[in-house]
Amino acid sequence: MKAIQVQQVGGPDVLRLVEVADPRPGPGEALVKVEAAGVNFIEIYQRKGLYPSPLPFTPGTEGAGRVLEVGPGVSAVKPADRVASVNLMGSYAELAWAPAERLVVLPEPIDARTGAALMLQGLTAHYLTTSTYRLSQGTWCLVHAAAGGVGLLLCQIARTHGARVIGTVSTEEKAALALQAGAEEVVLYSKQDFVAEVRRITGGRGVSVVYDSVGKTTFEGSLNSLSARGMLVLFGQSSGPVPPVDPQVLNSKGSLFLTRPTLAHYVATREELLARAKDLFDWVRNRSISVRIDRIFQLADAAAAHRALESRETMGKVLLIP
Ligand code: NDP
Repeated sequence: MKAIQVQQVGGPDVLRLVEVADPRPGPGEALVKVEAAGVNFIEIYQRKGLYPSPLPFTPGTEGAGRVLEVGPGVSAVKPADRVASVNLMGSYAELAWAPAERLVVLPEPIDARTGAALMLQGLTAHYLTTSTYRLSQGTWCLVHAAAGGVGLLLCQIARTHGARVIGTVSTEEKAALALQAGAEEVVLYSKQDFVAEVRRITGGRGVSVVYDSVGKTTFEGSLNSLSARGMLVLFGQSSGPVPPVDPQVLNSKGSLFLTRPTLAHYVATREELLARAKDLFDWVRNRSISVRIDRIFQLADAAAAHRALESRETMGKVLLIP
């Protein structure tokens, strides 16, 4: 099969299309013919060597397609099922395998592209708004990178819960998109002081929760945007890692809560994975949310896909099609 392989860590050009042996499903595993693979920041960190992976490796864990074959002991899926997963190992390829228990069967009319796009970003937006900090009617929240993949979904899900969203973005074009997705106010954090804007918009009170995927450049301001007993949900580091924090600042800034969640802990059981996925599929079907696929690249163009995501150009999901 054709697959992207990283033989040495480095820039986008280390993503090479090569011919490799087809994977075979072992016990409890399923082999999937990939129809769409999701491109995510984690693969950029792995490609650069920031998150070390044994070399050579095929990147990607997100994708959707059809089950071709199952290994011994599999009952969760069967050949020909249309499935999606965030645990589709080596999804930048024509074929990839997953533990069968980590596959979600796609209901009609969710196609492979939407299914792939909903897995990492959708499940993340779901757990952040329903479990990490449960949004409710009238709650003010601040969503950084509100026109990004997770950001657009966060705005839409927050709106369906009746929460009030302030989004931050870097350009006017992204501002328009965040407003369309349900943000009530948008701050151009590339030009404006977002802390002052949050205080102005909320009448000095601050927001109850900040969903911060940007990290280094926003962390301090995020803490300063919270109301007393508010929660900073730091779930990414698109601008770089946050330096060590003195817990005393949480006291002095208003008995704040700080959490650094990750998806795996919120879909640890098959029941939780399926329940969250079902909500997302229902929301797409009843048009509470829509998935914005920003760009689609051929598998051979994985380097261009990484460049687009890294350079802040994208507004929504980036997919690779084998
Ligand atoms: P996005 O589409 O949000 O892209 C990143 C955005 O971050 C950019 O578009 C840009 O928006 C903003 N940004 C700010 N500073 C920088 C910078 N220096 N370089 C690049 N981008 C910058 O990506 P995703 O939706 O795919 O992911 C968002 C984040 O969420 C990532 O950090 C990812 O690792 C994390 N994540 C965490 C998960 C978890 O469970 N913890 C799961 C899934 C994703 P703008 O131009 O408007 O500033």
